[in-house]
Amino acid sequence: MVSVSYYCPRCGAVAELDRDPYLADKSVTPFPLEGWRYVSPSDDFEDEDADGVKFVCGRDDADWSHPPDSDAEGEPGCGEPFYLNFVRYEAGEEVSGQPESEYVRLAEEMGPSGPNGPSGPRFSR
Ligand SMILES: [Zn+2]
Repeated sequence: MVSVSYYCPRCGAVAELDRDPYLADKSVTPFPLEGWRYVSPSDDFEDEDADGVKFVCGRDDADWSHPPDSDAEGEPGCGEPFYLNFVRYEAGEEVSGQPESEYVRLAEEMGPSGPNGPSGPRFSR
């Protein structure tokens, strides 16, 4: 077993998790990936054949601490869930992993280029 630290994407709190070194991490996301099966840190996720771990920031059985650059007092964590995704393979190909559709649509609507704008004539004075 190795001890690995994961950072909450929302508040930066650190979760320490003991896990087998053979599992490959893919990403940590604030939302679940479509098709991934998540277990909680207190579950035996190697035996559960899980694809990832759902953390509840500061609340679950992982070992929580404040972000390294924080001098916050009290309990670490924001209480929001975030997700550790392991690399998954299907038919020998790595699965890229899509956020569940609700989040995809949201992200596209809020894209960096903004709305495409009205296509009609511009107002002039
Ligand atoms: Zn957090």
